[in-house]
Amino acid sequence: MTDSDGRRRPLISGNWKMNFDHLQAIHAVRDLGLRLRPADAGPVDLSVHPPFTDLRSVQTVIEGEGVPVALGAQNCAVEDSGPFTGEVSPAMLAKLHVDYVIVGHSERRQLFGESDELVGAKLKAVLRNGMTPILCVGETVDERDVGLTRDRLATQVEIGLGGVPPESVAAMVIAYEPVWAIGAGQAATPEDAQEACSWIRDVATRSVGAEAAGQVRIQYGGSVNAENTESLLRCPDIDGVLVGGASLDAAAFVGIARAAAIATR
Ligand code: PEP
Repeated sequence: MTDSDGRRRPLISGNWKMNFDHLQAIHAVRDLGLRLRPADAGPVDLSVHPPFTDLRSVQTVIEGEGVPVALGAQNCAVEDSGPFTGEVSPAMLAKLHVDYVIVGHSERRQLFGESDELVGAKLKAVLRNGMTPILCVGETVDERDVGLTRDRLATQVEIGLGGVPPESVAAMVIAYEPVWAIGAGQAATPEDAQEACSWIRDVATRSVGAEAAGQVRIQYGGSVNAENTESLLRCPDIDGVLVGGASLDAAAFVGIARAAAIATR
């Protein structure tokens, strides 16, 4: 997605993972609303991704109190309804005014056995319901050590985008999250992150053409904080950050949003 001047607008997303019950979530999003100044949110897009049980409460605060963040989810089912005990459908999320849905987070891939094909089906389900997917891709430390980073990213991106029309790819988000950097306290260097994000854009170009691939926003995720955000966002192919741990602290998340806004100048 690009601004009227053709620049990709940074997206700063906070993945709360399995943290905060709905009362804590109300407190957290209110805290965010109190801390965010127009200059923080103006030049960038922000999203928060609470657990499913918190979504309705957070939606009510965002809409009722005008908190300048979009509502996101962390996962969804492939089907819109039916006998899928324990699942939450993308149609239900759309009804709650969810804008962004993360698909293929490495924790879903590793802990819950989600395949590239399943992630691709979820991505299409999100699009079918009028929301924006954030497709997570990234290599493990073992894949990195044996030089398989590019292959792994290419497979995840090609299967994830398979059959998706170029105009939908142009409007979606891909998050490059090296698994070895998640929760590690040590982010990838801007040079390494840029190289991987540039490769992801090349793979997307092969899949959907240069125009759509030039518009898709690519986030970096993995131990992002207020100190490393600006240098990451100054890289030409990095259009935002996906934040785990630091997004649980409103002051830290606002610090990241501010650093991102500075990088746009
Ligand atoms: C994540 O899990 O998506 C993530 C980036 O986590 P953290 O920021 O804590 O490394």
